[in-house]
Amino acid sequence: MNAPYCCPNCKTNRSRFNIIEQVSKSVKMDPASGETIEEYSANNLSPFHIPYKGPDYKVQCAACGLVEDEKTFIAFGEKK
Ligand SMILES: [Zn+2]
Repeated sequence: MNAPYCCPNCKTNRSRFNIIEQVSKSVKMDPASGETIEEYSANNLSPFHIPYKGPDYKVQCAACGLVEDEKTFIAFGEKK
């Protein structure tokens, strides 16, 4: 968060945003009931379980409500 943002949807908001921190939790679910059978920490994932590699943040425009990756707001913020 050290570059100017601009919302690509409403195109006017450059100052009011909700920063959404993404915290992933790795779980194993019962395929039939949806119940959580097991929770994994980052260093005891099972071999076939791919860890979360998405962005740390999502950003919501506090004017129009659009939720996007931070890079989308930064890319638009660079334009004048
Ligand atoms: Zn907006």
